[in-house]
Amino acid sequence: MDIRYEHGICIEDDHRKVILDPTRQSEIGVVTHGHMDHLVKDAFMTYQTLDILGVRMGERRGKGVSYGFPHQVGGFNVLLFPAGHVFGSAMTMVEDVLYTGDFNPEGGSTCGRASPHKCNTLIIETTYGKLDYRLPPKKDIIDDIKIWTECQLEDGPVVFGAYEFGKAQEIISLLNSMGEVPYVTDRIYRLCEIYNKHGVDLKYNHGEPEGDFTAVVPPGDLKKPIGSLLKKARKMNGTSAYLSGWCAFYSFFHSMDIDAQFPFSDHAGFDELIDYVKKCDPERVFTVHGSAKEFAKTVENEFGIEAKALK
Ligand SMILES: [Zn+2]
Repeated sequence: MDIRYEHGICIEDDHRKVILDPTRQSEIGVVTHGHMDHLVKDAFMTYQTLDILGVRMGERRGKGVSYGFPHQVGGFNVLLFPAGHVFGSAMTMVEDVLYTGDFNPEGGSTCGRASPHKCNTLIIETTYGKLDYRLPPKKDIIDDIKIWTECQLEDGPVVFGAYEFGKAQEIISLLNSMGEVPYVTDRIYRLCEIYNKHGVDLKYNHGEPEGDFTAVVPPGDLKKPIGSLLKKARKMNGTSAYLSGWCAFYSFFHSMDIDAQFPFSDHAGFDELIDYVKKCDPERVFTVHGSAKEFAKTVENEFGIEAKALK
C-alpha cells in the first residue's frame, strides 16, 4: 500500500485509491472536519461536518457518514472515529492505516475525545510536535478561565475572542456551565444552530446586549472592535480574552489588544502526541503538519520504528 502526499494524503494500491483531507473536491476523498483549510465538496465526511460545510461554503454537497459504520471509499474499507478536535471531527481508518486528522485526546464538551486505535501505520497530525510544545492540562485551563471570568464580571462585560467554529462553541459551552448565556456574532450564531440540530445543547444570545454581559466573537473582532460587541463592552469597563493553544508559547497582548489570554487548545500537545503513538502501537509512522520533521525524529528515537514527515 503506497502512502504519499498528492493533493491530500493519498493511499493507493493496485486497484484502489482514497485521498484523506483532499485539497480539492473529490469523490474518493474523506474530509476530516469543518475548518476552512480542510473543507471541500463532494467528499465523504460525518453528517455534522456536512452540515457545517453547508453553512460555511453555501452548499451542502458531499456524502454523510456516521462514526463507527464501515463505508467503501475508492475501493477501500473506511471507518470514522471521533477525533476530539471540533464538532463532527473524525479520524479515518483505511484498512490498517489510521489517519488522525487534527485531533485531541483530551477532547472537548462539544466534540467528544480521540481514543487510540491499534494500527499498522499511523499518520499523525503534529501541530505541536516540538518538544517545547507542552500544553497544560485542559482542566486547569478551564478552571483558570472560570475564575478569571467570575472576577471580571464584577466590574463589567467580558468578551472572548475564539475561532468561529469549534473554539467559539467550546467557550459558549463553558460559559453555559457557569450559568452565563453569551452574545455571539452572526456567523457564530449560524454555526451554533448546527450544533443544536445535532443535539449539542448550546445557549447563546443574538442581537444588542443589555446590562452586564458575556460575549464570544471571532479573533479578528478583538483587533478591530468597530461596531462590535467588544466596542460596547469597552464602553462599560469590560475586558477581553483570547483563546488559542499558541497562548502557551507566545504573547498576544499587543497584537490583539486583550486583557488576558488562555492556552485553550483543540490539538494534542507534545506529551499527548507521544502518548498517542505509544497506545496505537504502530509499526511505522508518518507525520503531517506543523513540526512534522521534528516529531518524526522523536518517534524514531523514542520507539525505534520507522517514521517520516509526509511533506
Ligand atoms: Zn482543524
